[in-house]
Order: sequence, then structure tokens, then C-alpha cells
Amino acid sequence: MTTDLRLSTDKIVRPDKDRFLNEDNPFEDMMSRFDRAAELLDLEPGLYKILRHPEKEITLSIPVLMDNGEIEVFTGYRVLHNTSRGPAKGGIRFDPNVNRDEVKALAAWMTWKCAVVNIPFGGSKGGVICDPLKLSVAELERITRRYTAGLIGILGPDSDVPAPDVNTNERVMAWVMDTYSMHMRHTVTSVVTGKPVEMGGSLGRREATGRGCMLVTLAALEHLGMRAAGATVAVQGFGNVGSVAAQLLHTQGCKVVAIGDRSGGILNTNGIDVNDAIAYVKQNRSLDGYSKGDRITNDDLLTLEVDVLVPAALENVITRKNAPKIRARVICEGENGPTTAPADVILDDKGVFVIPDILANAGGVTVSYFEWVQDRGGYFWTEASVNDRLQQIMQDSFRAVLELSRRHKVNMRTAAYMLSISRVATVHRLRGIYA
Ligand code: GLU
Repeated sequence: MTTDLRLSTDKIVRPDKDRFLNEDNPFEDMMSRFDRAAELLDLEPGLYKILRHPEKEITLSIPVLMDNGEIEVFTGYRVLHNTSRGPAKGGIRFDPNVNRDEVKALAAWMTWKCAVVNIPFGGSKGGVICDPLKLSVAELERITRRYTAGLIGILGPDSDVPAPDVNTNERVMAWVMDTYSMHMRHTVTSVVTGKPVEMGGSLGRREATGRGCMLVTLAALEHLGMRAAGATVAVQGFGNVGSVAAQLLHTQGCKVVAIGDRSGGILNTNGIDVNDAIAYVKQNRSLDGYSKGDRITNDDLLTLEVDVLVPAALENVITRKNAPKIRARVICEGENGPTTAPADVILDDKGVFVIPDILANAGGVTVSYFEWVQDRGGYFWTEASVNDRLQQIMQDSFRAVLELSRRHKVNMRTAAYMLSISRVATVHRLRGIYA
């Protein structure tokens, strides 16, 4: 029997309906967007309640023997927000600023992100409070293995599949895979994505998030009647996402005039040689000291007059404080949560076309899905095939969100939430409530 989740005809009563929630709290911020889309969808109160609560929240104490012989205890989290559409999927980040609310928001974003590109996953996220810059490789490995061991029973190809995120990479994923496999007594490649290609990783995964950003940016420019050739671009964040997005946009004829990382920004109105900057960062670990342009601050970078701004570094960089000064025509959110909810309203008023994070950076998890499929099938695709399928999904998803935004006269973010919430809600209605 299917449970009728529409039993009640009541309207959703959401907390503090007309107040913008705390801009600094990513979970509240995410929820305020969710609330708006849920209201427009006329989501029934039962489903509304279900989707406001993560399915599981785990906090771990992670004791680690440090290189100096002392024991340190780190705190780690794993939050599974929703698994109605499939196994939970989401990265693990190692960062001093990790906190429970952030991980909860990021897990929910993964649910919406997977649904917006229509891949059969739910959403999760993990994090460990630590500063990888201050840890040796051996310490990082011990943290990773102990964190993974603490999540045996949660992780698994059919239940929860991690991937890289802030300050984690292929090597960390290899440790996760190995630890999990040791506990299972056999090799399980599909428990994690973003692995080295040699051990079941997918070709094209490392570039996938940046490639996805490039694809939706081109789609946005076309929609706005702007030419990609010569379009000016500023990219904040020059890691895996920002550097690849810059490189691929450059290949498409755009002029990358500014790049930045935690050391600050570089402006060169003649165009930055992106490959040269990438080679510099490879050698020097950051843009610190890179001299082929004028030094600017990250705040200046965000407010440059450019056609496209790609925030690909940190959360909450576009807030109610600097949003009035933004001069970009298009914002492609390479990072999760770079724009706060109050900033959205200001950007809307200014006519900025924002490609929201859950669509803009979904290329990464899309190729994670391809990796999981390849691991499970034991058959691996060419890079061209991966890239073709990614292009198809990103372009189709962009069109679907744009269509909804036109139909409901809402911005791209609200449309993306509406699309993903409706997909998740449909599955909940079909599955009913197990009691
Ligand atoms: N950490 C990435 C994200 O936030 C990738 C997640 C994944 O591939 O599972 O989308």
C-alpha cells in the first residue's frame, strides 16, 4: 500500500517565514532556499518535515598516534542527508573550519545536486577538524584510516560512497578504499570515487568539476546572447576546480583576466596564461610570488567588472556586504555555498545570472557516478566517452533548470532546488513511509 503523504491539506508552517536566517550558518542558509522552493512546489507538510532532517548524523572521536609519539584526538563527522534515490554520495573534507552545521548543509546540497543532474544517489558529506598543512603524510593516513574504520557499517557501495572534497585527494581515497576493503576481507573499489585511475578511478574524474563549470558557463553565455570568445573571466580559487575551469574556459576562447587563491589575487587585463600559472602552482604550491600580473586582494577579485565570475574556493564569499558591489554578468558557483541567501536577492535585483552550486559544480559527482558504474561493471570507459556523457548531462540539466526558471519566473537557484526537491519528493511518495 502506498502511504498517502498528501493526507493533510495544511500549508507548510516554516520557522521564521519572512526572516532571513543567520547568513553565517550554512545549514540555515541552505534551508532558507529549500523553504522557498518547497513553498513554490506546494510541498506537503509531511515531506517537508522529512526533508528538513538529515537521516543520520555521526560524530566520531578519532584518536591518532602523532609522529612525536603523543596521542591526539580529532573530531570527525559523517552526515547522510537523504538516501531515497540511492546510496548516499558525498565528499570528505579535512579542514580546521569543519563543523557539524557545515557538514549537514553540505550533505543536503549533495542530495539536491545528485537530483538536479538526475543521478541515482542521495546526499552525504563528511569532515574531520584538522589542518592538513600542519600534518605529516603518515599522520594524515592514520586519521583517514581511523575515520574510515569508525564508519564501517555506514560506508559501502550500496549505502554511502565518499569522494574527495576540500583538502582531500586521490591518495586519501586510496586509503579509504584500502581500509574498507581490509575490513570486508576483499577489495571493494566502488566504496569510494575519485580514486587513482590505477585502482579503479575514472578517467576524467579529476577535471570533471571544472569541466562541468565550463560547460554550464558556455550554456549560460549562449542563453544570454553573449559570445564565449573574448568573454572576460575571474576565478577565485585555483585548486582542482578553479584551475581546470580557468584552463578549459581559456581553451574555449574566454579571456581569464584574474585568478586567486589563499595567497591573494592576480589581475592581468591582457589575459592570464593559465597553463603557465598552473605550472607555477604545481612547483610553488600557491600563487604566492607569481608575478605575471598585478596583485589584488580576493575581495577586489570578486568585484571586478567581468563577464563571468567563478567562485571556486570557499563558502560564504558573496554576502549581503559585498553583493551590491558585484559587477559580473554571470556567476558560476564552482564551490558549494559561495553565495548567501541574502546576497541572492541583491544579485537578482542587479540582474546577475547565477548558475547555482548544485548545478554548476555537479560535474564532479556526475563523473563519480560514472566511476561507481565502471567499478561495479568492471569495465572502463575512454576519457572521450566520460567527457561526452558528462557534457550531455550538464547541458540537459542546465536546460531543465532554465526551463523551470522561465516557467515559474524564478531565478536559476530556486528553479534548481524546485527540480531536485520535486525529484526527491516523487520517490518518497512512491516509496511511502515504512512503519
Ligand atoms: N566533493 C564533491 C562535491 O561536493 C564531489 C562529491 C562526489 O563526487 O561524491 O560535489
